[in-house]
Amino acid sequence: MSRRIALTVLIFAWAAAQPAFAQTVVVRAARLIDGRGGPPLEPAMVRINGDRIEEVGPTIQVPAGATVIDLGSATLLPGLIDLHTHLTDRNDVHWETALTTTTPPEAALWGARNARVTLMAGFTTCRDMGPTWPYVDVELRKAIEAGAVPGPRLLVAGNYVSSTGGAGDARQFSIYLDVPFVRNLADGPEEVVKAVRTNFKYGADFIKILVTGAVLSKGIPPGAQQYSDAEIAAAVTEANRWGRPVAAHAHGAEGIKAAIRAGVRTVDHGSYLDDEAVRLLKDNRRTYYVPTLALGSYMQEAPHVPASEKARGRIVNEIAVGGFKRALAANLPIGLATDAPVMPHGLNARELEYRVSLGESPMHAIVAATSLNAEILGMQDRIGSVTPGKLADLIAVGGNPLTSISVLRDVGFVMKDGVVYKNDIRAAASRGSAGAGAFIGRGRQDAKE
Ligand SMILES: [Zn+2]
Repeated sequence: MSRRIALTVLIFAWAAAQPAFAQTVVVRAARLIDGRGGPPLEPAMVRINGDRIEEVGPTIQVPAGATVIDLGSATLLPGLIDLHTHLTDRNDVHWETALTTTTPPEAALWGARNARVTLMAGFTTCRDMGPTWPYVDVELRKAIEAGAVPGPRLLVAGNYVSSTGGAGDARQFSIYLDVPFVRNLADGPEEVVKAVRTNFKYGADFIKILVTGAVLSKGIPPGAQQYSDAEIAAAVTEANRWGRPVAAHAHGAEGIKAAIRAGVRTVDHGSYLDDEAVRLLKDNRRTYYVPTLALGSYMQEAPHVPASEKARGRIVNEIAVGGFKRALAANLPIGLATDAPVMPHGLNARELEYRVSLGESPMHAIVAATSLNAEILGMQDRIGSVTPGKLADLIAVGGNPLTSISVLRDVGFVMKDGVVYKNDIRAAASRGSAGAGAFIGRGRQDAKE
């Protein structure tokens, strides 16, 4: 037999074997909120074959040999999506302090821990907005993809791009101290282009640029634009040449508007969102507003955050709540994000709860965290709703999040790519508060939570 024929036979044998290997699972629950905003399905059954959702309905056929997971009175939802995390950062160490007191291996280990905690909290996809140590997030993404550690599906920034003296440039040290400053500084369009290319060379999925100052920084104020229009445009043009998007950290109104005009995919934080910015977003449907709102109280309580930054936080967070209400009133699509670890990893669902407390409907918040976020990531063909053909990312909570959004604090069932990572829904329903669940992997993991 020639090698070519042998290879062909092998491929056909492999293809024929797939259905036998792909396990069929049927999940049953009292209710399904499918992520698209329509009325819940009651009761609900979902058939999963391998990593895909095959059929959804009130009653569907259970094939012989299928595994049935009965979640009783629970509510099923799509896996949640967080558009702004820093999984390799700890929530008790300031990122500037981390430059002199931590190592990249430490960030990788904590990243694995934080990824697991976030997955168990029901977040099956995260856009990670950059580590303190460049490209540790790329390695975390690869380890999760390879099944070495459990965690959300990740899209990573690699090394966020900042201007000298701005947010992203550590400022607390003497200029005579040789600190291993993150090599993320780029000034002028040419250096920005170089930074974008370097990021993609080393595995970033998208570009994060810091368009304005930040709260957790002593650099240029959050309300001020730190990159020129030309520098922002250079980042977008170059990233788009690679077919990839730019996410812009932007608090101040001028920075927000410059980023929208330049064609970034997301304006993150978007704190000083004004009427003109709302109009620009309405006209330009390629850019989305992605606020991070629930973090304020956690930041104020954090012992490692300096008083000057807490003061910045108090001002910015109050203004940001006004921006969110403006966007809500204008019926803008509003992406969902947390900026964890500014709020501790694993509490990500508190963002939905907080937004509901500000006047958003529970269904609107759930759609933001699922199908809308999937669309913002350009992944709406794979994730974001419980519909046939999508990847099997499913979570469940005891109770009904449409009547009490806080039940999302306690996710009792987590499936990602058809693999069950957690199933203690009855305990979750009766406990009514956050807790660690049993860790169940189907061959790809061997850890215990
Ligand atoms: Zn951030």
